[in-house]
Amino acid sequence: MEKPDIIIIGAGIVGLSIATALSQKGRSIIVIEKENSFGQHASSRNSEIIHSGIYYKKDSLKAKLCVEGRELLYQFCREHNIPHRQCGKLIVATNDKEVLELEKLFANGSMLGGEDIKKIEPTIDAIAAIHSPLTGIVDTHQLMKRLQNIAENRGVIFAYGCEAIGIKRNNDFYGIRVADSDGEELMLHTKTLINSAGLYSEKIAQMVGIDTVKDNYRLYYSKGEYFRVSNTKPGVLNHLIYPTPEKASLGIHTVMDLGGGLKLGPNAYYTDKIDYDIDSSNRELFYKSAKWFLPFLELENLTPDMAGIRAKLQAPGEKERDFVISHEDKKGLPGFINLIGIESPGLTASLAIAKHVENMV
Ligand SMILES: Cc1cc2nc3c(=O)[nH]c(=O)nc-3n(C[C@H](O)[C@H](O)[C@H](O)COP(=O)(O)OP(=O)(O)OC[C@H]3O[C@@H](n4cnc5c(N)ncnc54)[C@H](O)[C@@H]3O)c2cc1C
Repeated sequence: MEKPDIIIIGAGIVGLSIATALSQKGRSIIVIEKENSFGQHASSRNSEIIHSGIYYKKDSLKAKLCVEGRELLYQFCREHNIPHRQCGKLIVATNDKEVLELEKLFANGSMLGGEDIKKIEPTIDAIAAIHSPLTGIVDTHQLMKRLQNIAENRGVIFAYGCEAIGIKRNNDFYGIRVADSDGEELMLHTKTLINSAGLYSEKIAQMVGIDTVKDNYRLYYSKGEYFRVSNTKPGVLNHLIYPTPEKASLGIHTVMDLGGGLKLGPNAYYTDKIDYDIDSSNRELFYKSAKWFLPFLELENLTPDMAGIRAKLQAPGEKERDFVISHEDKKGLPGFINLIGIESPGLTASLAIAKHVENMV
């Protein structure tokens, strides 16, 4: 199949969701993925949290697609038996200044006092908290596996170990030069090309001839590390616990997995390279960031766990940017759909992003 109707570059959660949505109408689709399996980058290196959508700027794509995606995701998990739990989240304040900050940030949220918090989370220290009951956690691997499975059953071809290394436009077609893991090259052609290459999406945009600096599509990498908390009993916490948000990130918070394991993370710092090493000297920082609301934490119980990298459109110190999901026909690229800067809440929003792209196609 050298001329499929649609080619999708990237089999992360976003590419998989798009492939599943678009495969409903019998179109021929190939997903090109440079790794040997799906979801080896951001989609398996995140907090696995289904966000409620309370943080994002009103009327932004992030806000809209997070809320819509959250509902679609819960429904999908129920229908397909994907392990998940709507555990809810507490954003906690431990002093009066933070209480004011929470009141300002979440004017419509329901605020709990210290005694209410003790009843539902006896092991934490906080004088007030915003309760977000719609937040949850999901088994991302099972979710991606299921999406791939549905798409494959509808005829989508997943070309793993195949990297898009060049793109040329010929008449109505995009010619994509693909190299497999042995370095063998072949050309694929399509009229509809979807760029869901995550951290590498800026490179794909450059391959079709977009000036990513001029068009404000430059990507910056923001690393997030996690430390595992050992020596806690499963179920020590019932909710996800977040501090009052900082300017650059949501702050180091608790991350629970569905087996009852507990992690802290992610921190956030800009980096130039894509590597997933963890700087173990950050252990103290993690401890200090969370000890004040998790009194049971001990420094020696923190061990490096994993790291992920966010694909951010904003440079350090710049204002938060929205997702870019754009049919680039105005740039002279009809049929090229560009997804750039799909950072958090990209997992939560993935099924809604796919619907949005389906409408464009
Ligand atoms: C630390 C961290 C925590 C997060 N926490 C959450 C959270 O709790 N909840 C939430 O909703 N979101 C969260 N996110 C965001 C979420 O993980 C991402 O938005 C989402 O995974 C993005 O998916 P993607 O498919 O766009 O990218 P990726 O998963 O990165 O997939 C892109 C794929 O494209 C492939 N690719 C790249 N270039 C090429 C090429 N040339 N040829 C072929 N294939 C190529 C890559 O190999 C990769 O598999 C978090 C992100 C990070 C980093």
